Amino acid sequence: MCRHLGYLGPPRAVGELLTAGTHSLFVQSWAPRDMRGGGTINADGFGVAWWDGAAGVRGYRNAAPIWSDPAVGGVLAGVRSGSVLAAVRSATVGMPLERAACAPFEDGSWAFSLNGLIGGWPESIAALAEWLPAVELLRMPALTDSALVWTLVRRRLVAGGPADALRSVISDVLAAAPRSRLNLLLGDGSTLWASTVGHSLWARVDDATALVASEPVDDGPGWIQVPDRRLVRARPGQLEITELDITEAEGR
Ligand code: GLN
Repeated sequence: MCRHLGYLGPPRAVGELLTAGTHSLFVQSWAPRDMRGGGTINADGFGVAWWDGAAGVRGYRNAAPIWSDPAVGGVLAGVRSGSVLAAVRSATVGMPLERAACAPFEDGSWAFSLNGLIGGWPESIAALAEWLPAVELLRMPALTDSALVWTLVRRRLVAGGPADALRSVISDVLAAAPRSRLNLLLGDGSTLWASTVGHSLWARVDDATALVASEPVDDGPGWIQVPDRRLVRARPGQLEITELDITEAEGR
């Protein structure tokens, strides 16, 4: 079920960040170790967003498998950034296979990825649509659960802080669709926020870097496994893991 990764630290080549390490996101696309809830490989495209100083967030995505795209070792190897968010996709059954459905989704200084699914799709969105005006539904980047979760989060980012936005969206989605898996990953270029509901997540933070990833990208020391039902806030030198305090999602 998709794998994602967020990086903050000294500028690195974006292509290198996708491929560096014995278990990089690139390797996780065909050999993930901890896929849960269906899906075996992440071959339904990939995307990467990076913050480029005053130019803001830039992105690249492709509906083809990451291993088949020469841009990873080509143009993306020539782009450097100190803030990157990336994902490889294993589309949930029934979701369209298209470029626009590949995370990260971007808006302003935000980039976002979902590792998971909304249970009971598409019927369950009837309850969720109540939180979204129709015009927002029409603005969804793709007709997928990820895009719907992003649209809910984006809307709530306008009204409140990122942690509250993630918590409230998770709570509402679980109330409407208890069998959902909701590992969200959000970045603004200087902080990463992530949740665990039903999927794996690891973090490695030191004074210079912060890395948050569905699976450790190498066998090096320092990785911390995030327990289920947690909210993570990470930046270089700072890792906070707090309980999500949500009880609705029984029987996933
Ligand atoms: N359900 C989402 C999609 O289809 C995310 C998939 C995943 O986590 N595997 O895009």
